[in-house]
Amino acid sequence: MEMEGTKTHYEVIVIGAGVAGIYQIKLLADRGIDATVLDAAGDLGGTWYWNRYPGARFDSESYTYGYSFSKELLNEWHWKERFSSQPENLRYLNVVADKFGLRKYMQFNCKVEAAHFDEAQDLWRLKISDGRELTARFIVMAVGLLSIPTLPRLKGRDQFKGLSFHTFSWPHEPVDLKGKKVAVIGTGATGIQVIADIADKVAHLTVFQRRPNWSAPLHNGPISDEEMADIRRRYEEIFTTCSRTPGGFEHEPDRRGFYEVSREERVKLWDKLYDMPGFAIWLRNFREIFTDEKANAEFSEYIADRIRRRVKDQKIAEKLIPKDHGFGVQRVPMETNYFEVYNRDNVELVDITETPITEITETGLRTADRYFEFDIIVYATGFDAITGAFDHIDIRGLGGQKLRDLWAEGPTTFLGFMVHGSPNFFMPSGPQSGSASTNFPRGIETGVNWCTKLMDYMWAHGYTRANATEEAQQSWTDHVKKMYSVMLMRKAKSWFTGYNSNIEGHEYGKTRYFVYNGGQPKFLSQIAEVANNSYKGIDFNSGSLLAGLKAEDAARAGK
Ligand code: NAP
Repeated sequence: MEMEGTKTHYEVIVIGAGVAGIYQIKLLADRGIDATVLDAAGDLGGTWYWNRYPGARFDSESYTYGYSFSKELLNEWHWKERFSSQPENLRYLNVVADKFGLRKYMQFNCKVEAAHFDEAQDLWRLKISDGRELTARFIVMAVGLLSIPTLPRLKGRDQFKGLSFHTFSWPHEPVDLKGKKVAVIGTGATGIQVIADIADKVAHLTVFQRRPNWSAPLHNGPISDEEMADIRRRYEEIFTTCSRTPGGFEHEPDRRGFYEVSREERVKLWDKLYDMPGFAIWLRNFREIFTDEKANAEFSEYIADRIRRRVKDQKIAEKLIPKDHGFGVQRVPMETNYFEVYNRDNVELVDITETPITEITETGLRTADRYFEFDIIVYATGFDAITGAFDHIDIRGLGGQKLRDLWAEGPTTFLGFMVHGSPNFFMPSGPQSGSASTNFPRGIETGVNWCTKLMDYMWAHGYTRANATEEAQQSWTDHVKKMYSVMLMRKAKSWFTGYNSNIEGHEYGKTRYFVYNGGQPKFLSQIAEVANNSYKGIDFNSGSLLAGLKAEDAARAGK
């Protein structure tokens, strides 16, 4: 048997050893398929390997985030907290990989730099950062939705002599925060978690906020043995519910019409939701919150009042209340005592729309009207979302078609899983799939299952090439775009619409249709319909090329 490292051909190469890659390799290993996982990181875990910043945790209920594929695993694993933290989540993924013997299929510290489709052989030729060239019939892009961090384009950013990092690259060794003057730039889901966590650990914290985000309490808590036993009994029901709800959570929207109930009834519901854990406030709300400006404005004002009640200085409270968008049209970060942080004497909020950061210096940073000294600068400034990880690889399909060029103004896909012109290239949690708009792992399992079944189909039929048709791709992309038109979210200045002020071409207004907004049930039924109709929308070749490839494999093995 060839050793990993000297072997050059696989039937399947999975790129990424995060939640999707781990599950994908499990399914391939079960089938005895010759496959490997490549990851640029030093170990498995993806998102949970990288994001080690203090406060990093789920805001999906832990037991809806875990894998659903193994009863044994479900029975063995005890989620200790309702919203589990990064170290525990990473431990979970390691336990899964070890339990199912998956680590042996994984190769780390190898970044895929290029993937070119070889039309004569129906296989992908990959260039790896360590100099190797690998080939595979199929590649599965388990590259993550938020895996390319982006930093502000600020003058002098490299000058700073203290510690400075993006939250995604928070150091592996402990960072001593005690007695330190710390800056956090950015107040998205990440900023809100890290700010709330470190405020009482540092000497002084300065938060540089460009636009505030709507946020509401997470209500985390421990999960006792008894509760966990109950969850285990209910797992089947929990996952069934997740597959029936739009967001892939246990939370279901309130089916009453916003205008059918009195204002008093609406407030009664909101008071209840504000005290409930997780995304209840967002996803158990009236459906009009997502589509109707007036309904959204009334609810946003309700949340604004909650913020005013929690922040002592009303001038600061007003700065923390978004004025340019309504609640829930951007991804809602969940928080634990976030607003109370601004009642502390050691925390300052700087509104950088009023006084922009003009430069980073060796010892701190300058805004339009002040100079600040820091020991640590933390960038919680977001990601080149969804397509970023694809753009970072030189991917070329049929006729040398560069995916980067094809997607220059936004992605276009078939079901979010395939791209016309890039055969045998699968994206289980790709742009325009159900993954980004749902509880990630629920969407990821769906995507991995679907892509694996498609490979099963090809193996059974002896097909060596699957290419989504141009018409099928156009029709899916049109469908995805159409669904944006009813959502208030279409105007969001957030990664949901491809906005990122730190990347050229991602300015506000150049909408990228990244997310499938039709909800999980509709997505599931559409992808099932394609599969059940002999993969309508995908062109397959005959197996005639198989022989050629086998000959090449044999020649290579003989070397
Ligand atoms: P984000 O939501 O994109 O937020 C980035 C923040 O940085 C925003 O406040 C943004 O301000 C600010 N920013 C960006 N560039 C800046 C610049 N040049 N100068 C000043 N401020 C700048 O990114 P994120 O917080 O990392 O979250 C991304 C996604 O990751 C979330 O939406 C969520 O899906 C996921 N996430 C999940 C969890 C969880 O599950 N618990 C936790 C963290 C993150 P503007 O708004 O003005 O652009």
